[in-house]
Amino acid sequence: MKGIVLIALSLVAIAVAVNRATTGLYPAGKDPQEWPIHDRTRPQPPVITPGEASTQDQPGRPPSDALVLFDGKDLSQWESLNGGPAKWNVGSGYFEVAAKTGNIRTKQSFGDCQLHVEWATPNPPHGEDQDRGNSGVFLQSLYEIQVLDSYQSITYPDGQAGAVYGQYPPLVNASRPPGQWQTYDIIFHGPRFEADGKLRRPAYVTVVYNGVLVQDHVAIMGPTAHKQRPPYHVTPDKLPLMLQDHNHPVRFRNLWIRELAESEP
Ligand code: MG
Repeated sequence: MKGIVLIALSLVAIAVAVNRATTGLYPAGKDPQEWPIHDRTRPQPPVITPGEASTQDQPGRPPSDALVLFDGKDLSQWESLNGGPAKWNVGSGYFEVAAKTGNIRTKQSFGDCQLHVEWATPNPPHGEDQDRGNSGVFLQSLYEIQVLDSYQSITYPDGQAGAVYGQYPPLVNASRPPGQWQTYDIIFHGPRFEADGKLRRPAYVTVVYNGVLVQDHVAIMGPTAHKQRPPYHVTPDKLPLMLQDHNHPVRFRNLWIRELAESEP
């Protein structure tokens, strides 16, 4: 009986190890379980200087290893969807959607990443529901984390601020009043596809909104859309980050991104 239990436990351990290896929870290379505990030959993590948090009056400072997507001065990291210059307006330390000039996207493409975005909706607010401080952060240009004035303003739950648009409402509504700076800290892992185009595993996203967890490693169902849930289609490992022009003068500041190692198969 003991032997059977031991075999069963071994099988479970092997299954866990295989699962970890194939789901890629760990950086490429040696599985953490293969390292002897407290092994001093294990590589040290890179040393970086952490950033500083923003206040309402002052944007914070990105960590030293982040790529700064907006430094308060210009949109040189951004372009229009036709490849021309980004036409949004730059103010003092922020930029703002210029209505009807179209979405903008980063010139650079990104895969798995940590992303920090700060945004503020117009004050006094205009409109109601979805027509109130609407913009969006589109991961890989396809998966929208909704930007909306959701402070004491009702819309459909999977369309409010902090939602994976049309898929997952935020766990709580942690919105500040319009005009105040709101923060998104996003961890994104892109989808993986088999060689034949079949989805191997979906994209995952975690969103912290104003310091509060609102999306807890949810499996994105496919590209986000209005009134539909289109299926995944094969996409490159890296694509630009996109911000939405929804005709509202939403502001952004202190945008930075840290690319994560492509640790997952
Ligand atoms: Mg939107």
